[in-house]
Amino acid sequence: MDFNLTDQQEAFRKEVRKFTEAELTPLVDIMDKDNDFPHQIRPKLAAMNLYGIPFDPKYGGAGSDHVHLTLALEEIAKVLAPIAIHIQLQHVVNDRFNKLATEQQKLQWMVPLCEAKKVGCFGFTEPDTGSNPKMIKTVAVEKSDGYVLNGTKRFITNAPWADVMCVFAKLEGDISLFFVETDRKGFSTTKKMDKLGLRGTDLSDVILDDVLVPKDHLLGGKGGKFDALKDAMTIGKLCLSAQCVGLMQASLEEAIKYSMTRMHFDEPIFELQAIHWLLAEMAARLEASRWLTYRAAFMKDQGLDTIKDMAITKLFVTSTAVDVCRYGMQVHGAYGISKEYKIERLFRDAKMYELLEGTSEIQRELIVKRLPR
Ligand SMILES: Cc1cc2nc3c(=O)[nH]c(=O)nc-3n(C[C@H](O)[C@H](O)[C@H](O)COP(=O)(O)OP(=O)(O)OC[C@H]3O[C@@H](n4cnc5c(N)ncnc54)[C@H](O)[C@@H]3O)c2cc1C
Repeated sequence: MDFNLTDQQEAFRKEVRKFTEAELTPLVDIMDKDNDFPHQIRPKLAAMNLYGIPFDPKYGGAGSDHVHLTLALEEIAKVLAPIAIHIQLQHVVNDRFNKLATEQQKLQWMVPLCEAKKVGCFGFTEPDTGSNPKMIKTVAVEKSDGYVLNGTKRFITNAPWADVMCVFAKLEGDISLFFVETDRKGFSTTKKMDKLGLRGTDLSDVILDDVLVPKDHLLGGKGGKFDALKDAMTIGKLCLSAQCVGLMQASLEEAIKYSMTRMHFDEPIFELQAIHWLLAEMAARLEASRWLTYRAAFMKDQGLDTIKDMAITKLFVTSTAVDVCRYGMQVHGAYGISKEYKIERLFRDAKMYELLEGTSEIQRELIVKRLPR
């Protein structure tokens, strides 16, 4: 066992940190207050190769691994979590192409997705279900010239300005996966959602109204794509956990900073035992979350089956992030709820992660099904 990052991993983290502090800090208000996505950041993210970390350089990637992806998302979320979730979704789309597309489709889509010339989105959630993908109602019907898709996808990140979407749909009663260019006739999106946290990521419904796609847009053949969905969500859980670690690190730093300047009589509140207890809980929970997440990334890079471990990681880390940010708010007293202080945004962002890529309740189900008995 080796719990140290390599010099190269440490150097990568430092490089990303320098980038996020310089480039993302000025975008916080645009995303959080205005609920807008700052598109000018996309080429800069691509120049750092942050959209393609583990993918083969011939498809535009950096040829690296999931530990690096984890470190990058942690650092990005520490400054501005909605940028990290935008990258995550782009990553998940790329990963589908990487695993299921033809060589020509990989070159056609992965390269521009890694270079930020195209944007991807990914849809399984629907108005009637988010937790039980087998209940999806979007259907594909085979015709002589392709497949016709009909249905509605809900809460789709990046959708309002995506170029391509991975769509899970039922074909002949089983789940299949298609990719759909968003300029096809019958494809539309609704107004973007105004939401509690991760603001600025642009979430909307996608309406598929008799959208015709060519036969080669069926990824990985007919049916059997519940496993592809589970695989995508497993990667998503790693990405989310990394982001929660970043949020917790930011919360701890904010709480320490605040407690050292806020005075109680003639000493900073940092000296109070009650504040020590809050800070110590925050630090302990952050540390446990960080190592669970790095371990999950390491397992992924070893090619191990991570379904149970990723569910454990996601369950623990996302709910812990809410607790750690709540403790950070408590250290701030009444100022913690003010928009003048960063902790207020960190708390709102943390809450979002308990819902994404399967709620905490669904993670518990996944874990229990895989316990030895
Ligand atoms: C910020 C954000 C971004 C998102 N981006 C995307 C995206 O890009 N693409 C996409 O497809 N989706 C996306 N989603 C959707 C997200 O994945 C779903 O919201 C999530 O899976 C939960 O689905 P739901 O809201 O329909 O909850 P429901 O399935 O309606 O669940 C409601 C409640 O019942 C519980 N529940 C349901 N079934 C079970 C069960 N079998 N056992 C125990 N408890 C159960 C749930 O845990 C929850 O508490 C996004 C969501 C958010 C918040």
